[in-house]
Amino acid sequence: MIRRALFSILIFAAALLAQDKSDWHREFPAFRIAGNLYYVGTADLAVYLIHTPQGNILINSDYEQDLPLIRASIQKLGFKYNDTRILLISHAHGDHDAATGVIRKETGAKLMMMEPDVAEERSTARGRPGAHVDRILHDGEIVELGGSKLTARLTPGHTKGCTTWTMQVEEGGRRLNAVIIGSPNVNPGYILVGNTKYPQIAQDYVKTFALLKSLPCDLFLGAHGAYFGLKAKYEKMKTGGPNPFIDPDGYRAYVAERENAFHKEWDHQQKSNGS
Ligand SMILES: [Zn+2]
Repeated sequence: MIRRALFSILIFAAALLAQDKSDWHREFPAFRIAGNLYYVGTADLAVYLIHTPQGNILINSDYEQDLPLIRASIQKLGFKYNDTRILLISHAHGDHDAATGVIRKETGAKLMMMEPDVAEERSTARGRPGAHVDRILHDGEIVELGGSKLTARLTPGHTKGCTTWTMQVEEGGRRLNAVIIGSPNVNPGYILVGNTKYPQIAQDYVKTFALLKSLPCDLFLGAHGAYFGLKAKYEKMKTGGPNPFIDPDGYRAYVAERENAFHKEWDHQQKSNGS
């Protein structure tokens, strides 16, 4: 028993070390990914801008301390922060949504999010945005602005309302399916077996991986740059050639690797509980 507990602590520590936060607040160049889809986030905390003739959609707010970088990135692309009409998030964790209330107030954007994460968004607890939610979304619903359509796919587990955004963008006469993964990760300390606050958590991850595997994907993107190799792909993009963010194989490999990691952790927790 002691050996098993010690092993769990070691695994937990290793997972914590693996969570590299050094890029979270680091400046990163703003750039066009493809079509009317742009990157305006930090070196790891992804923020996406969708430009339309009727204003812009932003996905994720990051932390309040990241807002000066985000505003500057939007401006460098030639767009206006105040033209933000709709604000969306990947999921209700501070690294993606802590500043939603501020952006909403500053720009007048409508905040739209998946129903099971709404309570977290409204919460005024420490670190939570305490934001008013203008539209409550459900799986498969569409957010539309100026001819651009984003589909909200419920991919729960990481949070109950974790959302994967999909959209089509036009690039060089080609239609590309963009997938912005909400999060497939089982964070250190997550309880998959006997979780009283979230009894169906493991079944939700199972459904999420099935859904992610079913999505057509050309542009592989996500809530953190680290999911899809933002830094390396951006460097590659600068050298010309085919768009490195078009990476269906990378998408499939990432989802398969994360599914495997989930099953390993689930098995481990089931064995620990059963003895
Ligand atoms: Zn998270």
